Amino acid sequence: MKKYFVTTPIYYINDIPHIGHTCTTVAADILARAHRQRGEEVFFLTGTDEHGQKVAQAAEKEGLEVKEYCDKISPRFEEAWKKLNISHDFFIRTTDPRHEKVVGEIMEKIYENGDIYKDKYEGYYCIGCEKFLTESDLVDQKCPLHPEDQTVKKSEENWFFKLTKYVPKLIEMIENKETNYIFPDGKRSEILAKLKAGVNDVSISRENVSWGVALPWDKNQTIYVWIDALINYYSATRFLEEKEDFWPADLHLLGKEILWFHTVIWQAMLLSAGIELPKKTYTHSFYMIDGQKMSKSLGNAISPNELISKFGVDGSRYLVARSFPSTDDADVGLTRFIEKYNADLANNLGNLVSRVCKLGVNLESPNFNLQLDKEFIEKIDDLKLDEAIGWVFENYVDKSNNRLNEVTPWKLSANDPKRIEVLRECAQNLQLAAWYLEPVMPEACKKIQEIFEGEIKALDKPLFMRI
Ligand SMILES: [Zn+2]
Repeated sequence: MKKYFVTTPIYYINDIPHIGHTCTTVAADILARAHRQRGEEVFFLTGTDEHGQKVAQAAEKEGLEVKEYCDKISPRFEEAWKKLNISHDFFIRTTDPRHEKVVGEIMEKIYENGDIYKDKYEGYYCIGCEKFLTESDLVDQKCPLHPEDQTVKKSEENWFFKLTKYVPKLIEMIENKETNYIFPDGKRSEILAKLKAGVNDVSISRENVSWGVALPWDKNQTIYVWIDALINYYSATRFLEEKEDFWPADLHLLGKEILWFHTVIWQAMLLSAGIELPKKTYTHSFYMIDGQKMSKSLGNAISPNELISKFGVDGSRYLVARSFPSTDDADVGLTRFIEKYNADLANNLGNLVSRVCKLGVNLESPNFNLQLDKEFIEKIDDLKLDEAIGWVFENYVDKSNNRLNEVTPWKLSANDPKRIEVLRECAQNLQLAAWYLEPVMPEACKKIQEIFEGEIKALDKPLFMRI
């Protein structure tokens, strides 16, 4: 059986789930479900990143032990994903001792390989990002993503990873179409340019952060939270024995703010540890909310709960997929979501289902070939979710609505062959549409399948209520 391993980033628990996390997770879920539908054995991994200074500070603020704080916050993500009908196979937490053990082992391997050395670090650090900032990250000596007081100058002894040693190999891999793992193309050229412009070794440990995994050979230092987090993708396939064969991952799906860590640092660590590299990373862009960047200070982030209460689970999944920022930032907002929901789901798809149900017809047993279209498969695998869904609407939904308007079966008598023919055609198109869209809207599509199986069943209520 063909195997497929897809991951989302593990989300930092200092945050609360918003539409940014939602879009990555829904997209990964669509891929996981699509690959299961093709008969593949899927491992879909998501989780939370729970170490680092910020988490320790947040716990202190609430007067909780750090682990206690993590146990309280981490379920917020898992609950949100359950509500959204996310079908992950495992939810990993970096405070899981089984993960921590693998982190220590990998670091030891890299150390024994001679790729880690001690040095003094001096430079700017952003507490908000939990990372050292390079010259190119800085805008007026500050992190552009966080308030001014989050950027501090630091000077400490750290352990460093010889990233520079692996740069030629990474460039060679990325430049070769056969071995390139960075998608889409724009992100690939961005990383190539950055690698060629020159790279420094990276600090992989912290002196004064106790909330983390201790370095096996220097217990006074903890492993930098980012390094620890990246290893989750691999560690899950070690401590879950039945998942061992899933490595290397087929796809790491991520947002563009973590592109460098995933396409350069993670890959170099794996090269050093002698572990196979993931086959593909796909880095999507961001959502803009009503033309503005999503930010905590503006408070304009949309939460998954807010989406679900307005559009239902399938409606939310549909809207997120349809606006997925695959290559460029996508501008979204509740007003636009309502328009799109009403146009596509309530008026177009939902109305078609209601019309065909109401008119009713004896169905023939389905004789169509359930062979997924190649073009559709490619669009899904390339994360062109909007185009893939658009393709289904064009071929099955819009076409059927047009045919109904053309033939006007409601004006024909019940046994008029023209009426029977067009209704059967529409019912079949709906079955096909439901089959294609099941990874996007699992419940609604299951319902459509049931309605058009054998005798047409009456609808108790519209599939998608107009808002
Ligand atoms: Zn920052």
